[in-house]
Amino acid sequence: MPASSLTFEQARHLVETHATALRPAATETVALAGAASRILAEPLLADRDFPPFPRATRDGFALCAADVVHPPTTLRVIGEIKAGIAPAEFNFHLASGQAVSIMTGAPLPSGADAVVMVEYTEPAADEVKVLRSVAVGENYVPTGAEALRGAVLLHPGARLDAAAIACAASVGKPTLRVFCRPRIAVLSTGDELVDVHSLPGPTQIRNSNLHSLAAQISAAGAEPVLLPIAPDEPARLRELIEQGLQADLLLLTGGVSVGKYDLVEQVLAELQASFLFTSVQIQPGRPAVFGQARGRFFFGLPGNPVSTMVTFELFARPMVEALCGMTPRKLVFPRARLRSEVRTRTGLTRFLPASLTGEFDDAQVELVHWQGSGDMAATVRANCYLMVLPDRELLSAGEWVPILLR
Ligand code: AMP
Ligand code: MG
Repeated sequence: MPASSLTFEQARHLVETHATALRPAATETVALAGAASRILAEPLLADRDFPPFPRATRDGFALCAADVVHPPTTLRVIGEIKAGIAPAEFNFHLASGQAVSIMTGAPLPSGADAVVMVEYTEPAADEVKVLRSVAVGENYVPTGAEALRGAVLLHPGARLDAAAIACAASVGKPTLRVFCRPRIAVLSTGDELVDVHSLPGPTQIRNSNLHSLAAQISAAGAEPVLLPIAPDEPARLRELIEQGLQADLLLLTGGVSVGKYDLVEQVLAELQASFLFTSVQIQPGRPAVFGQARGRFFFGLPGNPVSTMVTFELFARPMVEALCGMTPRKLVFPRARLRSEVRTRTGLTRFLPASLTGEFDDAQVELVHWQGSGDMAATVRANCYLMVLPDRELLSAGEWVPILLR
């Protein structure tokens, strides 16, 4: 293998290293309702203690744990506290031998140090028979135990998922500062390509990579910039590459193999590009290229549609996410049980279109039959990729194997 051909892990680590050095550009303010999946650009601080009062986590009776060490014990019920009780009505102080009926989310009265679940009681008129002992601190969360006022709940770089949105709402943020979406240029190369609106001639095909990449870029949180098709001709290719290098990142597809008309690397070299890798020991996607020109990073992704999709996920995605301002995360492959044996040749890390089935904790995976990395029809029947490590020749049925979800 030439020096610039890396293993999958080396290539991924190289991309991750360069991704950490990237800085997202500007920030903007968005409404909480439109903030889902954006990247937070400000820290989220607790505006008060969480919980702001000792919060009951069960419906039951607030009491002194020392009173119920030897159950059953009958306690006198001195009142009721519901969630959201008005401060004027919240004037309980519990003495030994007393209990207060309390609801989930209500404040624990002073003097109480535990809540017994209603299921373990027999309430009567002014009394309650407690059937179980409880430990001090049981069934309530003390003031500030989740977060103290001023604590950072979420750092800049977090993707705003449902939990993060809930957190923002809890601390009273109807708007959030987020990073602007970076612009990712997509340039498809190939004389055989026509636009999706055109009727292809007998030897032509439609430019599908442009659209799969646009979908992947949008899903990663960036804005795709779609360039016209570049022919396998250096002058026009160069013009369009120069245009693409004005975006935050350039993704090229096609033209990176060893064919006579694979001109992408040649034209990039003319633009004084530095190449970080020009091949990765994977299938599909072996000719993938990563480099830098005119102060911008670029990827040359192989043109076969499955190669393009897989190499985006494996290598381009961390760069896109970093440009979005997202804190880097490691790629991990969940596992599923192989339904039928797989034989491959050693030497390459493979990501083969596969179908994930089963249910709950019984994840099962099986290869879909395909005609190689140009087979889009097989790939839409798949819903994941089976990862085969380069030293494996035979994977047996029943083995737990890593998968790349999509
Ligand atoms: P290349 O990487 O240019 O050698 O192309 C490899 C294969 O992918 C060829 O069969 C191309 O026709 C096909 N291909 C290249 N670019 C695209 C594209 N943008 N959309 C769909 N197929 C493509
Ligand atoms: Mg080509």
